[in-house]
Amino acid sequence: MRRHLILFILLFASLAWSQKPAAVPQTPSKFLGFEVGADRKLADYRQISAYMKFLAKSSNRIEIETLGKTTLGEEMIMAVISTEDNLRNKAKYQEIARKLADPRGLTQAQIDDLAGQGKSIFLLTCNIHSTEIGSSQMAMEWAYKLATTDNPDTLRQLNDVIVLLVPSLNPDGQIMVTEWYRRYVGTKYEGGALPFLYHHYVGHDNNRDWYMLTQIETKNVNQIVYHEWYPQFWLDEHQMGSYGPRIYIPPNADPVAKLVNPLVHRGNNLIGASMGWRLEEAGKSGVIYNYSFDAYWPGGTRNTGWWKNMFGVLTEVASARIATPMEISPTELQGGAKGLTTYEQQINFPNPWPGGTWRLRDIMDYELIVSDASLETMSKYRREFLRGVAAMANEAVRTADPDVFWRIPLDHQRDPAVAYRLAALMSEHGVQTLLATDQKGSSILIPTAQPYGRFVDEMMGVQRYPEVRPAPNSGILEPYDVAAWSLPLMMGVQAERVRVSAEERGSSIVPKATSLSLPMNAGKEDPYYAATDQQNGVFTLINAMQKEGASVFLQRIPGKTPNVIFAAHPKFLKNALKSGAAIRGIASLPKDAAPIKPVRVAIYKSYIASIDEGWTRFVLEQYGFNVKNIENKEVKAGNLNAAFDVIILPDSGKDVIVDGKSGREGGSSEEMPPEYTGGIGKEGVRALREFADKGGTLIALAHASELFFGDDFGLPVRNAFATGEARRAVPTSEFNVPGSLLRVYVDDKHPVGYGMPSEIAAFVDAPLAFQTSASTPDVHRSVIAWYPEDARDILLSGYAHGAEKLARKAAAVSFTRGRGRIVLFGFRVQHRAQTEGTFQLLFNAIEWGAEE
Ligand SMILES: [Zn+2]
Repeated sequence: MRRHLILFILLFASLAWSQKPAAVPQTPSKFLGFEVGADRKLADYRQISAYMKFLAKSSNRIEIETLGKTTLGEEMIMAVISTEDNLRNKAKYQEIARKLADPRGLTQAQIDDLAGQGKSIFLLTCNIHSTEIGSSQMAMEWAYKLATTDNPDTLRQLNDVIVLLVPSLNPDGQIMVTEWYRRYVGTKYEGGALPFLYHHYVGHDNNRDWYMLTQIETKNVNQIVYHEWYPQFWLDEHQMGSYGPRIYIPPNADPVAKLVNPLVHRGNNLIGASMGWRLEEAGKSGVIYNYSFDAYWPGGTRNTGWWKNMFGVLTEVASARIATPMEISPTELQGGAKGLTTYEQQINFPNPWPGGTWRLRDIMDYELIVSDASLETMSKYRREFLRGVAAMANEAVRTADPDVFWRIPLDHQRDPAVAYRLAALMSEHGVQTLLATDQKGSSILIPTAQPYGRFVDEMMGVQRYPEVRPAPNSGILEPYDVAAWSLPLMMGVQAERVRVSAEERGSSIVPKATSLSLPMNAGKEDPYYAATDQQNGVFTLINAMQKEGASVFLQRIPGKTPNVIFAAHPKFLKNALKSGAAIRGIASLPKDAAPIKPVRVAIYKSYIASIDEGWTRFVLEQYGFNVKNIENKEVKAGNLNAAFDVIILPDSGKDVIVDGKSGREGGSSEEMPPEYTGGIGKEGVRALREFADKGGTLIALAHASELFFGDDFGLPVRNAFATGEARRAVPTSEFNVPGSLLRVYVDDKHPVGYGMPSEIAAFVDAPLAFQTSASTPDVHRSVIAWYPEDARDILLSGYAHGAEKLARKAAAVSFTRGRGRIVLFGFRVQHRAQTEGTFQLLFNAIEWGAEE
């Protein structure tokens, strides 16, 4: 007995000794050697990360978790902050959070018991939008405060709460912004915009990726949220424009999504109220709620979680010019967004900011207060938040029919690999999926009766945007972002919401990502392999095999889907398996098969960064295309056929491409360093025309088609929404399609329509359709895709006011003159890498450019 006691004491002593910090905590300013938050001073991500790691070494209240690598290879980190005791037991608290997120099988008494024992898990993410730089700096100060405070209130809060602090959701972009800022500080370009995207692929759209999970940073965070930590609350700190309110806090603006449990908004508003209180108490004016940011759209960080029974809040603080202070005259203050038409005192804006100087320090101070208020509320209402998550999860299960499932049949899909990808995406979201096999074949079954069941219905079903009118005769409230995200429609996957009896799903198992067996009806000894080109994966395979130096052929059979034929090659089967394309062995090369050569693709990149450029590059790289960017200088220089077969002009207006004017924002007054100004100019337009005349293929995405409406290319086409060449501002009272899925018919006899179904869901977000006229002797025009004749047939998901204006209009067209080809897409074929069902139109257009 006595020996045991001694042993225990020794163990305890060594444990305590081993956890003694190696250093004494220093403030971020001391550690970095400059005043953090001072005018014109910024810490870059590597400094922030080094500081956080230092803090973890010098304090027992903070640990660092690595979330993975970023797109450009930075290490993405998260600080876990709580009391030493909580950190020691973090596995236990993670497990409690997981059980409360899926409380099936627990009694109410067990739930109450877990809520009593558990800790609030509070995720705070910063700086997803890299120019919104304040929160990345604030994170260091807040971490220091929590790691060193001896304030008994804060210590009690830390005992109730485990804070997960991500100092930047986009480390690559944080580094780009700080480097750009430092380069021009002290010059007239100080604090100006970047001439490139602040994420390698997706720029600002990194906060549009949270249901599709295409980017590595999104995946990294999704993993810790829905598979490891199950936070009850997520606060995401942003910045907004400089001339309106100083900070937005919840409640959100209208409209509100039907399927989100109302308790989510009650919890969010509770946190919002405490933020507002603490801000007023600290003398911070300009606080607004019920403003701009709606409660309808599921694409951003914290709000995807609303459908998964998680509380989540966005804050937006007014911006300075990065770290440069701004002097704002009271006459410059303005409203204009939903919830604040004019800059005036209102009930949701009771204490307007009067104007004055606004600096980085102010941004950080507002952010420190809302971070503190969230910690305080998560502590005070710890049991309520923990029980609330479990109550919502139980309600999602209880209110759903246990026999109702989303079924994705795997054997009858046009593109089985994409269907499987949809199922895998749902699993990645933490949704339970089943693989069932019966006489009809294999299907993925997704139960609607599960904790994340409302998320499943939101993603798999169709949207109907609610028409909320703030006053009886006013127009509707505009959506914050898009109005549709129906994944089966976007991805071109057949799925149905059906009843499946217990016997029918008897053999169901939970599938692993590797359990998809591809229909590989081929062996090593076959001299040729064939695949129909109605699968996106075929393009991965074409590109991979051409890189290996193998011959690839295209066989067209009138009235049928073309075949892609590959000559035998040692690496074929490996690449086929990776591509996910279904293939079969064939004995000989069909006589009518023609070789297709590797295609050299350029994507035009302007200095008014186009997010669509990044997405296009991302999608094409994912499918193995050989793509390069070209900038103004290279376009102007001409002789483009020497280096490229295809040039893609991503979605940007003509004024951006030709003159480098920021058209959609109505012209930016901001000056850029001279090497980043201007567009392709008249010479560039001539060079593009010459490229097409000499046999090149030009592909214009959405607004880039404006380049082809005028006399420069002499094509019989204009925008059906405008009479002349210029874009017309079409009022939303006349036409309003804010990102919706519309029915479009496709000519599958046209090379761009090969292998496509005759009817597709096209993602449309602008008043743009084509009015063509008869071909002239030198130009042949074809309509590749068009809208239905009856306006009532047009809308598939989302919102379409004035849809009759699209009726019978062309949605995609092509022109050939000599060997040159020009393809114009009016809708978004590769929208944010989400519209997998229409990617092939773009891929086909590119391969068309490879044909002799
Ligand atoms: Zn933002």
